[in-house]
Amino acid sequence: MSRIEVTFLGSGSSGNCAVVRANGTSVLVDAGLSTRETERRLALRGMSLDAISAIFLTHEHADHVHAALDLNRRRGIPVYASRGTAVAGGFPGPLFADVRPVAGGTEMTLGGLHVRVTSTPHDGAESVCFVFADTGGRRVGIATDLGHLSPPVLEALRDCDVLGLEANHDEDLLRSGPYPPYLKKRILSAVGHLSNESAAEGLRRLVGPRTAAVVALHVSRHNNTTALAERVFREALDETGTHASLAVARHDEPTDWI
Ligand SMILES: [Zn+2]
Ligand SMILES: [Zn+2]
Repeated sequence: MSRIEVTFLGSGSSGNCAVVRANGTSVLVDAGLSTRETERRLALRGMSLDAISAIFLTHEHADHVHAALDLNRRRGIPVYASRGTAVAGGFPGPLFADVRPVAGGTEMTLGGLHVRVTSTPHDGAESVCFVFADTGGRRVGIATDLGHLSPPVLEALRDCDVLGLEANHDEDLLRSGPYPPYLKKRILSAVGHLSNESAAEGLRRLVGPRTAAVVALHVSRHNNTTALAERVFREALDETGTHASLAVARHDEPTDWI
């Protein structure tokens, strides 16, 4: 039996894509990079698209679905998406070969991976986040694109072995930054994106005795910095007394296997 592992191939508004693997099953979480770039970064982590059994989509925004059609149609990789995501993304049409429904509040098993699906508060049609588990019960939770941490999300992500959590923006940088007012309002709303501080507040409740690694995700290039996200997360983790490692996922290169 192989222990569950994750690598974040890319994270942020230029493209989100992670690989989760355990017990001989490997899946993508979102497909927001181009097919070519997905292949290139998979190779950097010793993998190829041939090994990918499925794509799990969180929602239909372009930075999460960019290559989904191509990977589904030309590579025959099944796509798991909520009904709302599929409809809003135009996926059930004749272009897509194989789209399978998932829904918040449900669980499923795919090969060696158990998958728990939870609805998220975001301005997609029916956005979700995923917690994957191997047969030994080791869990990887991944949650980005959240306006806030709702009770069901907090419940689902508590005490994961590996927790990937959005640290999108610093509120002051966002407010004083270059984005137009409507976009600032959208990001700051209850169905927008998690700030460093909101995520850190969540971390204090989510980190538990099992938590071995935390990864900050979807860090904005305009309204945040890697150093800032890292510092705020580090402070929150230190308060919990955890020994969990901390990493910040990048736009342009994959993290190690975690
Ligand atoms: Zn996004
Ligand atoms: Zn989004």
